[in-house]
Amino acid sequence: MSNQLVDENTQLRRQLSELLEHARRNQDIMQRYQAFDLKFIGANSFQELIDSVFDTLTEASELDVVTLALIDPEAEIRRILTDLRIDVSDYPNLIFIEQSPNAAQTAMHRAQLGAYRSTQHMHLFPESVLKPASVTVLPLIRRNQLIGWLSLGSLDPQRFTTNMASDFLQHRASIVAICVENVINNERLQHIGLTDPLTGVNNRRYVEKRLLEEVGRTQRHAYPLSCLYIDLDHFKQVNDRYGHQGGDEVLKEVAGRITAELRLSDALGRFGGEEFVVLLIDAPHDAALAVAERIRLSVNNTPLHLSSGESLHATVSIGVATAHNLSRKDPAAPIAQQLLASADVALYRAKKEGRNCVISAENTESRVATAAK
Ligand code: GH3
Ligand code: MG
Ligand code: MG
Repeated sequence: MSNQLVDENTQLRRQLSELLEHARRNQDIMQRYQAFDLKFIGANSFQELIDSVFDTLTEASELDVVTLALIDPEAEIRRILTDLRIDVSDYPNLIFIEQSPNAAQTAMHRAQLGAYRSTQHMHLFPESVLKPASVTVLPLIRRNQLIGWLSLGSLDPQRFTTNMASDFLQHRASIVAICVENVINNERLQHIGLTDPLTGVNNRRYVEKRLLEEVGRTQRHAYPLSCLYIDLDHFKQVNDRYGHQGGDEVLKEVAGRITAELRLSDALGRFGGEEFVVLLIDAPHDAALAVAERIRLSVNNTPLHLSSGESLHATVSIGVATAHNLSRKDPAAPIAQQLLASADVALYRAKKEGRNCVISAENTESRVATAAK
């Protein structure tokens, strides 16, 4: 073989091995993306979805920072997440945009690639996250509506440049948009299923579910869990005098007054017609009695105004029970039932003792607080 042929052969072999290496790298990238897609499409909850965006995508595409911005002018998404006990402050890479998108933004369906510019990208990469050198901003569009942006950032200024093809990223953005919409809709449905439509507070299903979780937590962390069983006094008479509509307004107002006395971590649910149950997390019995008394006074001390122009004086009776020093070994369900039943028995005693009062399940003697009638 001539020298020339040997050289050509060596060169061809080198080219072939480079091509093979390139193909292997591409295959590797595709596999990582496929893993991301599977994880992402399989996400059932917002939490899972967010984790897959921020962890799996960052890893799969070897990015330095990924953020997800959701347009949420009415704060509806944030309200749902808070009610579902997802703390959005745990996710600095999750951004909520208060303004509705303008026409130009809505019309922009294409990805933007290029250098990071603070005037343009600051709201997508807030203070709390790493500042990238180059970015891709992918609009998330569902049914011709802009719902947010997925922003990919790299510290390498050459990673994203204006002339780069973006079809692959655009495809990823449409998957992300579908998944985000699906998961938010799921959470919305779950939220509706756990909310009382009249008063906007949680419903019985939610409180029962939460009570079981909280009993488990109380067993693990050995802190006290208190329960208030609240019932409006002579509510039938309220309905008789002011009509069902008037009664409904009273229920809404009372739910609002109870909420105003609680901490964010506590749970309030409408349990039945004119009955509410409150779970006070990490609250010893004395503290629970004090909260119950505040609730009683806030209903008793200020008259309720109805849309008909009439005013009325409503009162509530409250039974208070506390679970503490629970054994980790006992099953949670009977403990939960027992706690509710004790609060209910105390409420029954409050009714017998003349209403508009707070009764402790732990005090069999007499009422804890007497109404200032
Ligand atoms: P007590 O002081 O013993 O609790 O007397 P009460 O009249 O409040 O008790 P009772 O349980 O006999 O009556 C509850 C009333 O609540 C009967 C029902 O018509 C009314 N109610 C239940 N659900 C609703 C509702 O969604 N809206 C309205 N307006 N009234 C309701
Ligand atoms: Mg009742
Ligand atoms: Mg009642």
